[in-house]
Amino acid sequence: MIHYHQHLIDGDMRAATGAAMTTIYDSTTEEPIATVAHGSSAEVDAAVKAARAALPRWSNTSIDERATFLLAIADALEARSDRMAADVVAEVGMPLKLTRRIQLQAPIAAWRAAAAHAAEALAETRVGHSVVTKEAVGVVAAITPWNYPLHQITAKLAAALVAGCCVVLKPSELAPGVVGALCEAALEARLPRGVLNIVYGDRLTGEALVAHPGIDMVSFTGSTAAGRHIASMAGAGLKRVALELGGKSASIALPDADQAAVVKHALSSCMLNSGQTCSAITRLIVPEAQYEAYREPLRAGVANLRVGDPRDADSRIGPLVSADHRNRVNAYIERAEKAGYDDIANGVKPALPSRGYFVAPAIFGRVPIDAELAQEEVFGPVLAVQTYSTEEEAVALANGTSYGLAGAVWSASAEHAVRVARRLRAGQIDINGAPFNARAPFGGFGASGIGREGGAFGIEEFVELRAIQLPQ
Ligand code: NAD
Repeated sequence: MIHYHQHLIDGDMRAATGAAMTTIYDSTTEEPIATVAHGSSAEVDAAVKAARAALPRWSNTSIDERATFLLAIADALEARSDRMAADVVAEVGMPLKLTRRIQLQAPIAAWRAAAAHAAEALAETRVGHSVVTKEAVGVVAAITPWNYPLHQITAKLAAALVAGCCVVLKPSELAPGVVGALCEAALEARLPRGVLNIVYGDRLTGEALVAHPGIDMVSFTGSTAAGRHIASMAGAGLKRVALELGGKSASIALPDADQAAVVKHALSSCMLNSGQTCSAITRLIVPEAQYEAYREPLRAGVANLRVGDPRDADSRIGPLVSADHRNRVNAYIERAEKAGYDDIANGVKPALPSRGYFVAPAIFGRVPIDAELAQEEVFGPVLAVQTYSTEEEAVALANGTSYGLAGAVWSASAEHAVRVARRLRAGQIDINGAPFNARAPFGGFGASGIGREGGAFGIEEFVELRAIQLPQ
């Protein structure tokens, strides 16, 4: 058992004082593996005060100096990546090989990328007789989820720190492993006291942080319900908010799309990390006339997915994060079965291990746009297939939810696909399976959030603009 019972406050690991804690279970073995202390409001207060005290100095260091700290943190994290990978596999359940690449290598590279992009993002500009300078927004409360824990922490911290902000991080109570390593990395990198503070905790710790008058900005990633609540609390204090929330992203296959590529992409995107990905493609929108042509390869594809122990090299899909979450996802699947949609995976679902929070992947066909399964984020391995007759209808289906995080469009003509992509109310759209671009802005329209992360755009989220008019 590992006990995460020390918060990083003002440059020291301080023993947690409160009694409240969360017990973490290995998502595959169901054995208890860790406990996480919940920071009290007094600990949050100490962390915010330390950040405020550090702000004047840190925000006046040079971009190069701050970038050097980011590189040192990246090195210190890299030295701990095997341990972090084992922790993420145990906590979140993502298969080890994917965990190494997506959960660790990518965010470690993002620390380095933020250092590289800082000068571009923070450069002064001229508008007529004005000089526009970019100033650190101040003390940032960063609140993050468990599904890609180091990635989400990095998207906020690397950008905020290099912009000159000081940060108090309240990470998810369900994925503490990478946070323990980050505390060590911050100390090893000799980040000045108070610049980064980390208080473990749950919703209550998060609320104490959002409500604290010493916070200038709240950067939150998590569920849309929590995001709404946090935004309203932040609004009362006129604090800046950035929200990265849920999604119900759609992939549109135009009639001339490469069907095999569409199916492969839909399955891998939807099932990645057992469906616990905010930008997962969870709806596949295909021409009604081609429904059967998509149905069969989807069925064959799901039959071939290997669900099993994420530590086994053969496993493509591991368990979900917790028993509660597994039960929630299974309840969505049961309701969809009862609703009578075409149960495409029926009879071919992979067998599940006898222990662990596993869910068999599910695919439902001809799901109407007003169905729960077409509207709500399940956050599990469940794909809804929808059909259209006209392009107008395809676009209306894709835009027919409150969300707007990601999407995909497929056509033999990339130009045609781009024309359709321009009509989608979503923040990230991939044409014909184009890969993720860490430098592109990431974030959502509508209920998927406010603001963008990633590359220079992500750094700009953490600045205030100041215009200085020069005499004529
Ligand atoms: P969650 O909203 O339950 O929790 C996220 C974080 O917020 C945790 O640290 C939690 O302790 C804290 N929190 C919860 N309620 C709070 C409150 N009222 N006040 C302050 N803090 C609070 O989400 P989760 O279950 O950890 O993560 C899954 C969700 O995150 C999914 O909806 C997913 O789509 C979303 N997500 C979005 C993105 C994105 O970039 N758009 C990325 C990953 C995950």
